[in-house]
Amino acid sequence: MRRLVLVLGDQLCEGLAALDAADRTRDVVVMAEVRDEATYVRHHPKKIAFLFAAMRKFADTLRDAGWDVRYTRLDDPANAGSICGELLRRAEETGAQEVLATEPGEWRLIRALQHCPLKVHLLEDRRFLASHADFDRWAEGRKSLRMEYFYREMRRATGLLMEGANPAGGQWNFDHENRKPAPDEVAIEGPLRFEPDETVSEVLDLVERAFPSNFGRLRPFWFATDRAQALQALDRFVADALPRFGDYQDAMLDNHRFLYHAVISLYLNAGLLEPREVCEAAEAAWREGHAPINAVEGFIRQILGWREYVRGIYFREGPDYVTRNVLGHARALPAFYWGAETRMRCLAKAVEQTRDEAYAHHIQRLMVTGNFALLAGVEPHQVHEWYLEVYADAYEWVEAPNVIGMSQFADGGIIASKPYVSSGAYISRMSDYCRSCAYSVTKKTGKGACPFNLLYWHFLDRHRARFEGNPRMAQMYRTWDRMDEDRRATVLAEARDFLDRIDAGETV
Ligand SMILES: Cc1cc2nc3c(=O)[nH]c(=O)nc-3n(C[C@H](O)[C@H](O)[C@H](O)COP(=O)(O)OP(=O)(O)OC[C@H]3O[C@@H](n4cnc5c(N)ncnc54)[C@H](O)[C@@H]3O)c2cc1C
Ligand code: SF4
Repeated sequence: MRRLVLVLGDQLCEGLAALDAADRTRDVVVMAEVRDEATYVRHHPKKIAFLFAAMRKFADTLRDAGWDVRYTRLDDPANAGSICGELLRRAEETGAQEVLATEPGEWRLIRALQHCPLKVHLLEDRRFLASHADFDRWAEGRKSLRMEYFYREMRRATGLLMEGANPAGGQWNFDHENRKPAPDEVAIEGPLRFEPDETVSEVLDLVERAFPSNFGRLRPFWFATDRAQALQALDRFVADALPRFGDYQDAMLDNHRFLYHAVISLYLNAGLLEPREVCEAAEAAWREGHAPINAVEGFIRQILGWREYVRGIYFREGPDYVTRNVLGHARALPAFYWGAETRMRCLAKAVEQTRDEAYAHHIQRLMVTGNFALLAGVEPHQVHEWYLEVYADAYEWVEAPNVIGMSQFADGGIIASKPYVSSGAYISRMSDYCRSCAYSVTKKTGKGACPFNLLYWHFLDRHRARFEGNPRMAQMYRTWDRMDEDRRATVLAEARDFLDRIDAGETV
């Protein structure tokens, strides 16, 4: 009997479990650009365009490989508007009654498939280096689920960057050699850019018409949209940027959006690149003497460690993870996250590049937009939705643990052993934003004092009961307690005043 083979927009990989389990002489591949998926949050136009263009090209690749592909475009009048609706329509059209599907990366869609009135076989997504069972086996019985130990196990299990039973280079982690402050100049061109071809141009026009008011600039559009291009983008990164990736991993520059980052997460997450091949390319660069171990280990840790780990947490914690809010934060997300004016240079630049590129690198996400939202006490679910909307690489399995857990501490410390909060001093050390900011990073109180400086103490003070016993935060509380009482009162009053001004919609 004929079956439908569902291929979702972030499953663009020929080795996909559902394709592997299907018979190309008989089964029918279903791919669809549906409104439900494009609108459940108001995605950045570049993200929608990237996915639709990559889907259309992948459908052609499958047709060339002999598959019968039924592809529905967004503007097709027969489009049912949802994944399940499209499956039902194609089932009627082909007489198929069963569906082979690869597990989606969001509980929302898993539920939708489970409730679809067809027999849906959900197969585990094998594009990851750790299966659910691998992660659960590692996590079982542990008091704390720290990434570093998981990562070492993954190194052993995959043999990546290993010399026999030992870590290559003699250490598991070279982070102490990384995290240098921002360089004065970045001497590379940045990620490889692709001119829109006919397929991409057609999609850009469609997205422009269909999503005119979503936050973000659609053009210029330069992402890779097929596997061959994504591989070229990876090659460019390995050749140019990887050698200095470690050194400047945490740096931020006012006039350089990408520094030495790979800008490949959107390709990995959509299936155009596979994690193992990316790690192997980096390892080969080290073995050939092209890139130093601190860069290569640091890079591989992000993919083999963090990426696999956050996925494990997402599926282990379950669907309610995205609603957690242990700190009880309730403030609305300030308007400047959507491009309204702010005098805080670091935030203005991070949001500006997010609007233009649907991209910001890790430290901008964690220590600028994330840090500010946490310090200001923004409701984590709103923060979560913002990140899901604005980044081209955002899918719940990877975005939610990074936002709810790592960045907002809303899960109570499953991922982070302490909240990622900092005053302006950290941003000043790692970037050149403060040099052209209306606020002064060295001013702790009074007119023009950096808001991060005020909010940092306000955060620590309001969450004292929860955090003062945390040994990693003891020093912060000692410093706060050493300040004289008047000064502490001034800091808290100015922080409250600043937050009131945000709530009143004033430009801050
Ligand atoms: C608040 C917040 C939200 C985030 N949301 C997302 C998201 O929606 N989608 C996403 O893919 N990443 C997310 N990340 C992780 C990270 O910021 C991005 O993966 C990275 O910035 C992508 O850019 P790049 O390809 O240039 O990465 P590089 O810095 O060059 O790193 C290489 C690769 O490592 C992987 N990686 C690095 N850090 C992480 C991490 N913490 N979790 C998972 N993978 C990681 C990515 O695949 C990335 O492509 C988030 C991080 C934070 C702090
Ligand atoms: S002074 Fe404060 S607000 Fe301004 S860029 Fe520096 S950290 Fe950001």
